[in-house]
Amino acid sequence: MFKLEQFPLPFAPDALAPHMSAETVHYHYGRHMATYIDNLNKLISGTKYEKKPLADIIIQSVVDGSAQKIFNNAAQVFNHAFFFRCLRADGGGDVPMRVADAFGGADKFKADFKEAALAVFGSGWTWLVRDNGKLRLVNTSNADTPMVHGIQPLLTLDVWEHAYYLDYQNRRGEFIDAFLDHLVNWDWVNENL
Ligand code: MN
Repeated sequence: MFKLEQFPLPFAPDALAPHMSAETVHYHYGRHMATYIDNLNKLISGTKYEKKPLADIIIQSVVDGSAQKIFNNAAQVFNHAFFFRCLRADGGGDVPMRVADAFGGADKFKADFKEAALAVFGSGWTWLVRDNGKLRLVNTSNADTPMVHGIQPLLTLDVWEHAYYLDYQNRRGEFIDAFLDHLVNWDWVNENL
């Protein structure tokens, strides 16, 4: 059977500690993300979505009223693959000038990003995106993803509770600070820019 494969984790499972523990990476990458992939492979088996590239599955299922589960799992596979590429050991630090300039400075970018990520109600994602050539922040709920709105993701933070609860419990703000100060893979963002 054709199967979409889990992509390799771009860092060692314990590389992000103490800002993101090996236990969080184990459950988040090895269980949550793996389950989205397993579910997607089962759901698309024998359907018109089988053997299609992930982006095509997402774009086509979002407007298919009978494919809500396929969309949810496919979009979450994309969102998580993107998210893990946004992380690295000894990351964070200097915000690229193009990003800082778009927000009125590096500190303003971080403050705006934190405000947006704190404002996600329930489960969702905060994204730095390019929208009609302009950089801005957007939040999405649940599995929603910028690509279906025609905007390009540059950086994302998963603020579903499973992303931080083992390390930070209810202290989402501390998780956001750790992401911005120690984990962001700005090389990945620059590649997307
Ligand atoms: Mn997640």
